[in-house]
Amino acid sequence: MDNKKRILVKFSGEALAGANGFGIDSSILKFIAGEIKNLASSGVEIGIVIGGGNIVRGVSAAAGGIIKRTSGDHMGMLATVINAIAMREALESVGMDVRVQSAIKMEAICETFIIGRAKRHLEKGRIVIFAAGTGNPFFTTDTAATLRAIEIESDMIVKATKVDGVYDKDPNKFEDAKLLNRLSYEDALKDDIKVMDDTAIALAKDNALPIVVCNMFKTGNLLKIANNDLSTCSVVKN
Ligand code: UDP
Repeated sequence: MDNKKRILVKFSGEALAGANGFGIDSSILKFIAGEIKNLASSGVEIGIVIGGGNIVRGVSAAAGGIIKRTSGDHMGMLATVINAIAMREALESVGMDVRVQSAIKMEAICETFIIGRAKRHLEKGRIVIFAAGTGNPFFTTDTAATLRAIEIESDMIVKATKVDGVYDKDPNKFEDAKLLNRLSYEDALKDDIKVMDDTAIALAKDNALPIVVCNMFKTGNLLKIANNDLSTCSVVKN
């Protein structure tokens, strides 16, 4: 029986792009690898999902009318594999044991997603990066991350962002904006909040999966969550 805490960390592809807004910034890759390593040092088991928005998003690719939405989404899913490989390299460079599992079979590059195999890796202390989203068009990587979190029986999904969490009003416009520490799934679905897309939130709600929104660019924030200090983030649960 494996009683360790298990966490699925989701961050967007844009997070990897840095100031360029496109591609992969190696200094950011290095920073995130350091934060994940710290998190792992607390003994938690870690799954990771990275988006692909720093390379291509299906909707934008299809906007010109030449590329079909389904093809654009295939491109988007492949973008997440590119990010997963980069993250694997960064994590291995700081001494972590990592496996990439893709929802779409690409055996020369990485493993294919198999729930039981992913869990075994986690139990052995390996970090598992889940790539290629759900393997289906018309979904987002937030939904893919929520799905994987439920499949691997994660205790929570951590949506790592550039902001501290969810505010009662726009913190960029209002100085007195307050961080909401605790929200319901219904709150999270509201238009002005939208922690994740509706499909992802509905999936989390149906399976009582807590969603923790935090700022991953503040050193030590991920580790705080593992140590049950949720004071500087927002938690969505029943
Ligand atoms: N995508 C998809 N199915 C999935 C997950 C992702 O088709 O299950 C595609 C979709 O085109 C999406 C792109 O991959 O726009 C990149 O994912 P996302 O936009 O979620 O990345 P993020 O915004 O987190 O960087």
